[in-house]
Amino acid sequence: IPALDVPMDTLADMSYQETAYEVMSRFFTDFTEDELKDCIKKAYDSKFDTEKIAPLHEADGAYFLELFHGATIAFKDMALSILPHLMTTAAKKNNVKNEIVILTATSGDTGTAAMAGFADVPGTKIIVFYPKHGVSPIQEKQMVTQKGANTYVVGITGNFDDAQTAVKKMFNDHELAAELDQAGFQFSSANSINIGRLVPQIVYYVYAYASLVRDGRIKDGQEINVVVPTGNFGNILAAYYAKQMGLPIHKLICASNENRVLYDFFRTGTYDRKRDFILTTSPSMDILISSNLERLIYRLTGENAEKCAELMKSLSEGGEYTITDEMKAQLVDFYGNFCSEDETAQAISDIYKNSNYVIDTHTAVAAGVYKKYVSETADHLPTVIASTASPYKF
Ligand SMILES: *Cc1c(COP(=O)(O)O)cnc(C)c1O
Repeated sequence: IPALDVPMDTLADMSYQETAYEVMSRFFTDFTEDELKDCIKKAYDSKFDTEKIAPLHEADGAYFLELFHGATIAFKDMALSILPHLMTTAAKKNNVKNEIVILTATSGDTGTAAMAGFADVPGTKIIVFYPKHGVSPIQEKQMVTQKGANTYVVGITGNFDDAQTAVKKMFNDHELAAELDQAGFQFSSANSINIGRLVPQIVYYVYAYASLVRDGRIKDGQEINVVVPTGNFGNILAAYYAKQMGLPIHKLICASNENRVLYDFFRTGTYDRKRDFILTTSPSMDILISSNLERLIYRLTGENAEKCAELMKSLSEGGEYTITDEMKAQLVDFYGNFCSEDETAQAISDIYKNSNYVIDTHTAVAAGVYKKYVSETADHLPTVIASTASPYKF
């Protein structure tokens, strides 16, 4: 992970687009300055309904980082507005002649945002698979009415995990890949298993911190906490990478809904997906196999790919794995908890009554968990809560 070697007072004066360049150029060192700036310019434009792109809203003793001002009013737009441009630029640089077929599994928000991002992008097609009975009515309408001659959407019998597992199987099918190649196609992913999703997500944590410095809410270097409503572990992993780059983050607070597999993992060191899949009011977090946790596990093993693969094999074959005490000790950066359906509704009500601010169900899971964190730890550091969807979407 590269260091964020830009002084905070420089970042504090930057627009979202300029911050995006500083952060992403540290990772995508094979892109020229013009190429990357062109991708950023095309991504973060008037599709967003505010020039700030990701504004902060102070309410109820925390800063809500509003990540829902893009085309499909959920945080997936933050990365999926730029992914198609990164991908087509990379394909051109690498002389890829095939048409790129994006396969995407969605719990509701990725599918819409990915289709909006890839719609009519030359050289690409996109196929989205969503759980027919596991998304909100608005999410389903957004997907089935998406414009674009190259967009396809399929409702499956099963839940998000079934969709994601089947898509991963297609990616790993070498015979299918050969057949596609002959016909002039190749697969890629718009899920957060694609690093092109994660890097753009690091940007807004840096931007939020710099905004707090600029507005005099914190001093340069002061630690903050970050709370993330979590499903596939992509968004919170981006915050972890921001911390690794040097952003002064104290705790990464991982908020789950009643599918509390991550809470149990942080508590016990055992990841156990053998449990009922619960349909909640925060459907984008209804997930039992959090793909990106694998990336954290990899780091916990000391970047031992074999050891990491062993644990993942045990998850896919036996439904669980347990990390060593040594690995568990490295999880001190994280705090996990969850909210029941009642607690989630209560958080929406409380914040509306206290601050006249309406939050969505996913953000409410984070707000509820933050409350539990403060009462357990009495840690009152300034805190950023990732606000992942517009309340009007759910
Ligand atoms: C996808 C999503 C999440 C979960 O994010 P992950 O990166 O999968 O952990 C939370 N809230 C909303 C609204 C989402 O769309």
